[in-house]
Amino acid sequence: SRQINLASRPSGWPTPDNFDLVEADLPAPQEGQVLVRNLFMSVDPYMRGRMNDVESYVPPFRLGEPLDGGAVGEVVESRAPGLKAGDLVLHGFGWREQAVLDAARVRRVEPVEGVSPSAYLGVLGMPGLTAYVGLLDIAEFKEEEAVFVSGAAGAVGSLVGQIAKLKGASWVVGSAGSDEKVAHLRELGFDAAFNYRDGPVGEQLRQAAPDGIDVYFDNVGADHLEAAIDALHVGGRVAMCGAIAVYNATEPACAPRNLFLAVGRRLTLRGFIVGDHSARMPDMIAEVGAWLREGRITADETVVEGLENAPEAFIGLLRGANTGKMVVRL
Ligand code: NDP
Repeated sequence: SRQINLASRPSGWPTPDNFDLVEADLPAPQEGQVLVRNLFMSVDPYMRGRMNDVESYVPPFRLGEPLDGGAVGEVVESRAPGLKAGDLVLHGFGWREQAVLDAARVRRVEPVEGVSPSAYLGVLGMPGLTAYVGLLDIAEFKEEEAVFVSGAAGAVGSLVGQIAKLKGASWVVGSAGSDEKVAHLRELGFDAAFNYRDGPVGEQLRQAAPDGIDVYFDNVGADHLEAAIDALHVGGRVAMCGAIAVYNATEPACAPRNLFLAVGRRLTLRGFIVGDHSARMPDMIAEVGAWLREGRITADETVVEGLENAPEAFIGLLRGANTGKMVVRL
C-alpha cells in the first residue's frame, strides 16, 4: 500500500520535496484489528504546524514516517467484534491508501444517502464542529447580532456564515481571497463579502459592515483581527479559531496594533481547540445534518484525485486553491 512520509521539515512555505510517496508493507490484521481501505483523506491547515518540530496541542509529524490526519475508509477485513467488511469508518490515519488499525482507533459512521462519505471530514466532522462550537459556544452568538468571518469561503468559514444566517444573524460579512469566492459567498446567503486582496481589510470591513459587528470568527489573524477589533461593538466577542495568515511566516506578525480597544469596549477574545468540544458533536450532527438534508446549508468541497496529489492539495489549501473543504479521494 502507498503512503506519504515526511521527508523534511519546511522553513516557510512547504514544497513538494518535503513529502515522499513510498510503498509500505502492511501486516495482516491481528485479533481486535481491521484492515481499512481509505476512500478520502483530509488536508487541514493545522497540519502545517505539525510539520515543525515544536511542541503544540498535537505532537509534530516524525521525519521518515507517514503523516496522519482525518480519513474515511471502508473496512476490507475485520478481526474485531462489532465491525465487518463494508463498514464505513472515520479515523486518524490519512496520508495512506490502506491501514491496519485497532478497532478502538476507528469510529463506525453511517453512510448518508445522497451525501459523500467525505462529509465526515467536513460539514459532519471536525470543521463542522469547529464552526458550530466556535460561533455558538465560544463567541456566544445570539439572534439579531452581526457577524464577520474571515476565511469565509473555506471549510469552517463557509459554515460559520451559513449557521449564523440560519440562527437569525442581522448581518453576516465574509472575507475571502478571490472575486469568484466573494461572488460565491453571496450565493451562500452572506449579506456582504469582500476580497481581502483588493485593499486594506479595515476599510473594506467598514464598507461591508457600516453598523459594526458583534462577533468576529477569526480564521486568519493579523490585519483581519485588527480590522475586526476596530469594528466590534462594546461587549463584542471574538472566537480565536486560527491565524492562517501567519502559519508560513518566518517572522512574527505585528498586527493587531489596536488591542487596547479591548479594554474600553469590554471585548472578549477567546481561543479554542475543537478537540476539547467533542461532547457537542451529537448536537452539531443533529442540527447541521438536518439543515443539510433539507438543503438549507451548502457544504462545498474541493476534491483532489489520488494520494500522489495529496501534497499538492495540502499546499494548495494554504494558498487558497479550495472552495469549501479540501479533500483527497484515494
Ligand atoms: P480552509 O478551508 O478555510 O482553507 C484555508 C483557507 O485559508 C484557504 O482556502 C485560503 O482562502 C485562506 N488563506 C490562506 N492564506 C491566507 C491569508 N494570508 N489570509 C487570509 N486567508 C488566507 O481551512 P479550514 O476551514 O480547515 O480552517 C480554517 C481556519 O480554522 C484555519 O486557520 C485553521 O487553522 C482553523 N481551525 C482551527 C480549529 C481549532 O480547533 N481551533 C479546527 C479547525 C480549523 P482564500 O482564498 O480566501 O485566501
